Amino acid sequence: MDRKAVVVLSGGQDSTTCLYWALEQFGADNVEALSFDYGQRHRIELECAAKVANLAGVEQTTLPIDTFAALGGNALTDSAIGVEDAAGDSLPNTFVPGRNLIFLTFAAAFAWQRDASDLVAGVAQTDYSGYPDCRRATIDALEQSLTLGMERTFRIHTPLMSLTKKETVELARDLGALDVMASTHTCYNGQRPPCGECPACRLRARGFLEAGIADPLDSI
Ligand code: ZN
Repeated sequence: MDRKAVVVLSGGQDSTTCLYWALEQFGADNVEALSFDYGQRHRIELECAAKVANLAGVEQTTLPIDTFAALGGNALTDSAIGVEDAAGDSLPNTFVPGRNLIFLTFAAAFAWQRDASDLVAGVAQTDYSGYPDCRRATIDALEQSLTLGMERTFRIHTPLMSLTKKETVELARDLGALDVMASTHTCYNGQRPPCGECPACRLRARGFLEAGIADPLDSI
């Protein structure tokens, strides 16, 4: 039997690249996308996730988990908090504690019901904001916990883990995912066209610039 994969799809550049990576690895019939409505301020992310899944021709499910908004205290779910870069050694206020751990745990539960044991996530420890739940050591420990806790050998694939933003753009190109990038969303300020000023916009722009590739999002 073919292995089946569940891709955590946020509607952003990285998770979209991972979706196309999974299509190549597992075949289109064996890939499903999973998105989370976690109370994010920018609903456009969910619209983009649906659009990307549709363009990729995969089934997509959105799970509601609004607990992060109830916890508050971060710029992605609390409209009273503006996006700021990290100061000194502290984490930026776009860090949502536990987010990737919880996403992947729900993804494993979702996969378990579908006889899938391969999970794919667009986390990366290079070139990012230093989110501790994006590190491979965290992912390895979670993989082990999920495997023990659900009595199934889960694998969490992180194809972008050691890539720079430039290399991620090049991978998207090699996977034929560039056109779809016009339907992705990155901006922390929820703007479309993107604001170009926030940390997420700047990081994305730098990746495309260094790769020498025009961002299709800029031409819409
Ligand atoms: Zn922005």
